[in-house]
Amino acid sequence: MAASQNFLHALVGSMSQGAAGNPTVAVIEAAFAHHDLHWRYINMEVTPADLSDAVRGAKAMGFRGFNCSLPHKVNVIAHLDGLGESAGIMGAVNCVVRRGDQLIGENTDGKGFLKSLVSVIDPRGKSVVLFGAGGAARAIAVELGLAGVKKITVVNRGEERGRELVELLRTKLKLEAELVVWNGDYAVPAGTDVVINGTSIGLYDGEARLAIDVHSLHSGMVVADVIFNPPRTRLLRDAEARGCIPVDGLGMLVNQAIVGVEFWTGITPDAVVMREALENALGL
Ligand code: NDP
Repeated sequence: MAASQNFLHALVGSMSQGAAGNPTVAVIEAAFAHHDLHWRYINMEVTPADLSDAVRGAKAMGFRGFNCSLPHKVNVIAHLDGLGESAGIMGAVNCVVRRGDQLIGENTDGKGFLKSLVSVIDPRGKSVVLFGAGGAARAIAVELGLAGVKKITVVNRGEERGRELVELLRTKLKLEAELVVWNGDYAVPAGTDVVINGTSIGLYDGEARLAIDVHSLHSGMVVADVIFNPPRTRLLRDAEARGCIPVDGLGMLVNQAIVGVEFWTGITPDAVVMREALENALGL
């Protein structure tokens, strides 16, 4: 046993294209080091044409799993042995886990968000307003549906993408869902428990404004943002000023990494160590 500890026990990684400097590497490696796990997490540049060979290679070389980001989240499914529940519903995979001799696709985007959310509110039976209908919003909506929310109002600029998400929530999760095509400042309806920015508005711009009537945000509402840099977005600052409970995107990103490490290693890593590593990696 002592000798085996001198060897690398397992590899996980990230298959992406054009994602050099991926902050997830620092976060996950910090967890491995902190928990004395002889694992490595490496970033691999994989083109769409090489995806099939890369997945077969990871399997042949005994990788315990890997993350994959755009443009591979959908196409990777054809090369896997099965899908977890939420990944199957949303049709997108960002985390692959070896279970026995099978590679199973999961999606941790929504799971990371849910882990942050449940630290401030029980989502069961709640009414949610979700801005956006892209990959992140879709993952969040599916996970919220599986967690038992009562209703999701999708507010999206593009009608087609918004309608697709609402149809998915209605048909696959039997959820009460409606689409509002976003046009001007949106007033959050009374009775809303959770408001989420699932769009890219605010990324790298702390002053970027979401078209929302801030006076419709009320004390006690939970207001969450997927934006992790800067983590205190204009939406969250406005929401806090009105007595809302803020949930930032940095926590979601850390929680995603935590869920990945749990899937791969079976241990729950230290969240504080991982958040510190992420803040350092992002220069916050
Ligand atoms: P997508 O490109 O798939 O979707 C972007 C969404 O934002 C769409 O709904 C789009 O609307 C909307 N949008 C973008 N710009 C505008 C605008 N000016 N006005 C109105 N709507 C707009 O991106 P993702 O869903 O993959 O990512 C969204 C954000 O989430 C990114 O900033 C990403 O960094 C962040 N993210 C954070 C994570 C975390 O762990 N914290 C995890 C994953 C993502 P439309 O359909 O009309 O184009």
